[in-house]
Amino acid sequence: MHLHGTSQINAAGRLEIGGCDTAELAARFGTPLYVFDEALIRRRCREFMDAFRATGLRFQVAYASKAFCVMAMCRIAEEEGLSLDVVSDGELYTALRAGFPADRIHFHGNNKTPEELEMAIDAKIGCIVVDNFTELYMLNEIAKEKSARVSILFRVTPGVEAHTHEFISTGQTDTKFGFDIGNGSAFRAIREAVSLSNVDILGVHSHIGSQIFETDGFKLAADRVCDFAQNVRKELGVTFPVINLGGGFGIRYTEGDTPLPVGQYVQAITDSIKAKLAEYDYPMPEIWIEPGRSIVGDAGTTLYTIGSTKDIPGVRKYVSVDGGMTDNPRPALYDAKYEAFLANRANDPSEETVSIAGKCCETGDMLIWDLELPKTKPGDLLAVFCTGAYNYSMASNYNRLRRPAVVFVRDGEADLVVRRETFEDVAGKDVVPERLRKQAVAKS
Ligand SMILES: *Cc1c(COP(=O)(O)O)cnc(C)c1O
Repeated sequence: MHLHGTSQINAAGRLEIGGCDTAELAARFGTPLYVFDEALIRRRCREFMDAFRATGLRFQVAYASKAFCVMAMCRIAEEEGLSLDVVSDGELYTALRAGFPADRIHFHGNNKTPEELEMAIDAKIGCIVVDNFTELYMLNEIAKEKSARVSILFRVTPGVEAHTHEFISTGQTDTKFGFDIGNGSAFRAIREAVSLSNVDILGVHSHIGSQIFETDGFKLAADRVCDFAQNVRKELGVTFPVINLGGGFGIRYTEGDTPLPVGQYVQAITDSIKAKLAEYDYPMPEIWIEPGRSIVGDAGTTLYTIGSTKDIPGVRKYVSVDGGMTDNPRPALYDAKYEAFLANRANDPSEETVSIAGKCCETGDMLIWDLELPKTKPGDLLAVFCTGAYNYSMASNYNRLRRPAVVFVRDGEADLVVRRETFEDVAGKDVVPERLRKQAVAKS
């Protein structure tokens, strides 16, 4: 059994996170419940920051807030000195409302609306990561109308695609994101931007994938981005003050996952960039990265209450919990694997292999297909680990389930950071047109 961060089994044989007994958390806040180990989030932030500090370079670590974007998390990112990536007006709104410094916010996305660009310019955020030509021209026009200057990065596709252990070097990347380096579109974008009146070129950005366990993909991407930077400098006389190599650093969901220590990714990226740019005698830019999953993923645990079971002799035993694809869509979306155990009886030996089902009306609503557990009873608590990233942020109201609460735990204290949804949250936005309203039946 692998315990993350401050998680441990207490004297009562129950899972404890951040010094809080999970059975008590479940009783106090209800289930399903997302529990975040605040000390572990902060440790992950510091691992990235310390690794960069050790290089002596100028840098920014931008938390990719789409992994888990709530105001309390924005506060932690700020306290730890991170910057913040947003990809929508809603995420930008959340960050600003949390008081996150606008000049450390970066806006991503392949289809930012005019309203989103206006909002970003009005808020004076740090930079906009321009994804395509439509956006480039539109952004310049909007900035012009507002007599504003906007710092921009260009999202480029270096022809490297990385997945966990493999990376693929592709000539031309078939992706909806960014300007291709290989086919010359990235170069044309910079050339165009040079002639635009209200944008300032800050540099280039590349993001090669997610849940990556090796450094080779990052090194190759760094090489290609640096080659591109040198080409741009030679041909256009533009020198980039920033190179951003994105996120995608892997975490351990199950024992099959073997992430590297954070420092090794940072080292590989900065070493590659340094070496390549030294060849070109290119002034060392600020290096940015954008971890999402690796900041919050393993700090999150979801607590569920076990309800019904269905035993099909010789086939499978289904054990159902009070959440499912609504609070964790990743198994259904990506066939993602998770580890779990009984939080209220953590020392009990495993007796059988069961499958953990969610409560939604979908055959595919399964959280874990094969899990060794003690014989369970209704009311037992199941803890599913590593649910901090892309769970709450991807949660839905399918079947009109209410989205769970989120708590941060640390030093024996639990703080609510998102309250559980109410029925009013679920149905209160509905509008019934006059003609469909229930009429009082006239009695004769
Ligand atoms: C999603 C994303 C990230 C974060 O990816 P993780 O795998 O969560 O680290 C960083 N940058 C960009 C541009 C992204 O789209």
